[in-house]
Amino acid sequence: MKVPEMFGENVFNLRVMQEKLPKDVFKSLKNTIDRGTPLDASVADVVANAMKDWAVEKGATHFTHWFQPMTGITAEKHDSFISPTKDGNVIMELSGKELVVGESDASSFPSGGVRATFEARGYTSWDPTSFAFIKNGTLCIPTTFISYGGEVLDKKTPLLKSMRALNEQALRILKLFGNDTVRHVFPTVGAEQEYFLIDRKMYDARKDLVFSGRTLFGAKPPKGQELEDHYFGPIKKRVSDFMKDVDEELWKLGIVAKTEHNEVAPSQHELAPVFTVTNVASDQNQLVMETMKKVASKHGLYCLLHEKPFAGINGSGKHNNWSMSTEKGVNLLDPGSTPAENGQFMLFLVAVIKAVDEYQDLLRLSVASAGNDHRLGANEAPPAIVSVYIGEELAEILDSIEKGVKYSGKAKQVMKLGVDTLPEFPKDTTDRNRTSPFAFTGNKFEFRMPGSTFSIAGPNIMINTIVADVLREFADELEKAEDFHAALHALVVRTIKKHKRIIFNGNNYSEEWTKEAAKRGLMNLRNTAEALPHFADKKNIKLFERNHVFTEREVRSRMEIMLDNYCKVLAIEGLTMIEMGKKDIFPAVNAYILELADVISKKKALCLASKAEEELAAKLSAANEAMYAKAGEIEKILIELKECGGAREAAEFAAEKLVPVMQEMRAYADEMELCTAKKYWPFPTYGDILFSV
Ligand code: ADP
Ligand code: MG
Repeated sequence: MKVPEMFGENVFNLRVMQEKLPKDVFKSLKNTIDRGTPLDASVADVVANAMKDWAVEKGATHFTHWFQPMTGITAEKHDSFISPTKDGNVIMELSGKELVVGESDASSFPSGGVRATFEARGYTSWDPTSFAFIKNGTLCIPTTFISYGGEVLDKKTPLLKSMRALNEQALRILKLFGNDTVRHVFPTVGAEQEYFLIDRKMYDARKDLVFSGRTLFGAKPPKGQELEDHYFGPIKKRVSDFMKDVDEELWKLGIVAKTEHNEVAPSQHELAPVFTVTNVASDQNQLVMETMKKVASKHGLYCLLHEKPFAGINGSGKHNNWSMSTEKGVNLLDPGSTPAENGQFMLFLVAVIKAVDEYQDLLRLSVASAGNDHRLGANEAPPAIVSVYIGEELAEILDSIEKGVKYSGKAKQVMKLGVDTLPEFPKDTTDRNRTSPFAFTGNKFEFRMPGSTFSIAGPNIMINTIVADVLREFADELEKAEDFHAALHALVVRTIKKHKRIIFNGNNYSEEWTKEAAKRGLMNLRNTAEALPHFADKKNIKLFERNHVFTEREVRSRMEIMLDNYCKVLAIEGLTMIEMGKKDIFPAVNAYILELADVISKKKALCLASKAEEELAAKLSAANEAMYAKAGEIEKILIELKECGGAREAAEFAAEKLVPVMQEMRAYADEMELCTAKKYWPFPTYGDILFSV
């Protein structure tokens, strides 16, 4: 296998474009890609035709606009290239118009009330910055998705808008530092993807996994992750075969899948690609998830992407590594070696710190979902409280800048920003604080709160927009300054003073931090129902409007969709518990009780002791009755849930009333699982599933 040849073979990338397109057409398309200049119709026709020829050569028969509606997965509607000719034959065709815009029935996608039912039309439009690719014999053209009235119905459009906002403001800042040749600033993202891989047969035998993606019942197995023998451990043959296949598929799609390793929990793994421009990284992450699922099924495996498939065992997240880069590849969060570079780095750094502090709520709610609620704040992942980790060294440097005192490191100097060189500080690459939700790791920030199923578009819309907004405020102030260096220094000092409360370098899992964070006035939005309503807070709506990312209507509709999704997920889980509890667990335990009763009566006839059997039968009977009663309670709560007025009320009701009863019901079932004979238990246990591969 020749990797370099195989890499990107299914992608209509710049190399292919250059080869297949006339020079002037290529140049004009390249301008569109780099600078967003509109593409004219004649160019679109030529590009479409070349794209079609290339795809047909590779065996494709269909094309689709590939987009990301609010369902969290990607959508595609396939059309064939076939076009009839007068003489009764067909030719393969793709027009410029078909490439650039598509009309799609929007009525079955969630719109949160933005698209009235009578207005079903939605439009997809080509995003030339993300390359078209071939998947399963279909040419996929990455697009955005909007309603007839121009309102946003997808995740990509606002992502692109947030990138534009960041670009505009970052360029203003760069100009102030004399960097006026830079033409474009892009946010860059590398998304590390965690997942579980289990045997397909185990998956099929568990209705909860099939319906809800996570186990709703299951007692802790005798062995979990306590020996810490899985993380980076040797990879089993079946898993490494799977990973090899995934890598190959991704490479063909031009995705630089780079790192594959075992994670903390048994059966848990991670895949990390090399970072790229955010909208492309977001498209690629969707393809990574889809590819992992597809390849798993070829290997008789199932890939679980849920945030918390197993209670009591680590959940899965998606670490969103984020930075900003110029078109020349200069990383703006890389501390430089000259005074000007250092001043610029400090300004970008404190801008992120301020942005995170002022918009803790937006970051928190961008990762809120029923699935991620099990993870955030549990003892493994970042807590629900947002804070920033910058490391001891950098914290000390900020402290010395703020207080105007000597930095105790090597340089032992008082720093004047933009005049002095930053003291050398070790880049924090090894001893990272793994507990921090938002950690500076030397030249980028790692946002660790997103859940493993999430589209990374949501969190990145937030990061780009809030940082853009702070940069705007900084640029407004500094552009007016008479003495730039003095103003820069004063601004940085003021920002550190005001926002240092968000910096926390300690253990985020500790109880002391929860108390300390409350003292500092940081938000602690414990679940989705608490977090999501902040989306429509006045300050947040203003932020999105100011940066042209969302209108108020779009914010409200998105909030509605997410709240609604939260309730629907919980309702499905509740119904699944009722089904498994009543139809599987209840009769199974009764059958075992009957066997025990039989043993007891036969033992009695023989004058043998049967104390253990009697106690066990009594215990099981009581627990089974109690579990059945809880199933009944869930049924009632689900009826009440349907009657809740608005999405927000319903979400609050579900969080307060439904979730605790589900936990109670589960506790009875798990207790019974531990003392019911193996042959009666109706589905595979944690031990069976987690050590199945
Ligand atoms: P690890 O976290 O395993 O030590 P790295 O820190 O090198 O590995 O990278 C983790 C992820 O961060 C990778 O996906 C990598 O491509 C990405 N990454 C590295 N640099 C940047 C950057 N400047 N912007 C965005 N992502 C980055
Ligand atoms: Mg990492």
